[in-house]
Amino acid sequence: MDKWEYSESIESDSIVSIQSKYGHFIDGKFSTPNSKKYLKTVSPSTEEVLASISIGNKNDVDSAVNSAKEGLKIWSKTAPSERAKYLYKLARLIQERSREFAVLESMDGGKPIKESRDFDLPQVAANFFYFAGWADKLDISWGTKEMKPYGVVGQIIPWNFPLLMLAWKVAPALATGNTVVLKPAETTPLTALLFAELCEEVGLPKGVFNLVTGDGTTGSELVNHEGISKIAFTGSTSVGKYIQNAVGERDIGLTLELGGKAANIVYNDAALDQAVEGVVNGIFFNQGHVCCAGSRLLLQEDIHDEFINKLEKRMQTLRVGNPLDKNTDIGAINSKEQLEKITSLVNEGVNDGGELFQIECDLPSSGYWFRPSLFTNVQPSYNIAREEIFGPVLTTLTFRTPEEAVEIANNTEYGLSAGVWTEKGSKILWTADRLDAGVIWANTFNKFDPSSPFGGYKESGFGREGGRHGLLSYLKVQS
Ligand code: NDP
Repeated sequence: MDKWEYSESIESDSIVSIQSKYGHFIDGKFSTPNSKKYLKTVSPSTEEVLASISIGNKNDVDSAVNSAKEGLKIWSKTAPSERAKYLYKLARLIQERSREFAVLESMDGGKPIKESRDFDLPQVAANFFYFAGWADKLDISWGTKEMKPYGVVGQIIPWNFPLLMLAWKVAPALATGNTVVLKPAETTPLTALLFAELCEEVGLPKGVFNLVTGDGTTGSELVNHEGISKIAFTGSTSVGKYIQNAVGERDIGLTLELGGKAANIVYNDAALDQAVEGVVNGIFFNQGHVCCAGSRLLLQEDIHDEFINKLEKRMQTLRVGNPLDKNTDIGAINSKEQLEKITSLVNEGVNDGGELFQIECDLPSSGYWFRPSLFTNVQPSYNIAREEIFGPVLTTLTFRTPEEAVEIANNTEYGLSAGVWTEKGSKILWTADRLDAGVIWANTFNKFDPSSPFGGYKESGFGREGGRHGLLSYLKVQS
């Protein structure tokens, strides 16, 4: 099928102003790093260096934790309704500057502007509004139980939804009276740094929000700091396991949001065209850099050929390219390392015997790119059917009966999300009851709301973010 001709529609980056070098944000202001060391954050779509970012060492983390301890003295005496006002102000400012944040997110992380503009930023603001609303209602929410914040919370976030993961973590932590030291991912720190500027602008008391940039060693210093009362982490299962071991002997709180290998189950009675759309959204949203991505397509055997035919045709219409082009569906892979990981897993899948379909399209000459890909003829034992690829790669398996679908879906170390496609409500409930997954979507995929808890089972971690359950992750309940 020929693609429609179209003209580029590039979002201007003139709205964004990026400094050449950034310090940490500690005690309400930006400061030079004690380490005197910097790393470069690059645009994954052009490989252009965007800025130098401080690498936090032990002393930097120590300063940030001490600042958060001082901040706690003020924050714990701040009336909940006042805490709410700061969060509302942040929410409104995020809305006002949402275009700027969206462009910056797409430049630093490679995601299409239509996703950062229409998904990430509205969700970020919605989370701040939602948790602002809870700040002065905590006492009445859990009956007679007394709720206490943990104190100083260390938060470590990944690169796939940089500002949204900040919002998921910072908004509930501050609403519940904690203070924060945040470590963003080394490839995507710029929106967190811009958020720190907003904290200054709204006059958030010093020390309530602190930001230490850096790499994994900085994250590790934060995890191991004795002044931290709770760690909230989103990222890979391997680093999650490291953190769990590191804090194992300390009496601190811990929530881990880790990887996934979600089954997207399509029964033969599903509306196939709608299911194709849902499957495409499930795996190709954000280049597949999504922990809850529907990366394992489970097709009922008798619709396999028809569905794959429709899916390949639909995939061929996806536009890959400049993240700032409003027509782009698939942006850049976040980093060279991630591209290498995806490439290596896909090569392994081919060597194992998987049949690979990749769309035909031109790729930009610089930057990190991977064509939307689909594997058929896959055995459940192949690595591509087991490991989180975290890229635009879908793996297909087949089943004959609902029982077999559930068995295959649950045959994974992970348990974060799943999708079910069928016209029968009873089959949705039957299947959902039997799936080991924290979030299950029916006849849709990737739907999020701040009031809805999100989190996993098994190696996908524990604890919930979002909703009342997400608040509880930042409170110690005392009966
Ligand atoms: P990581 O889990 O390494 O990174 C997540 C965050 O943890 C980043 O801020 C990272 O810092 C930090 N970090 C790294 N090492 C440590 C440590 N020892 N102690 C404390 N913090 C640490 O993910 P990667 O970015 O390396 O991606 C690797 C793979 O992880 C991906 O291919 C993907 O499969 C998976 N992943 C899953 C995510 C999910 O939400 N499920 C999110 C991101 C990745 P820094 O970035 O500076 O290294």
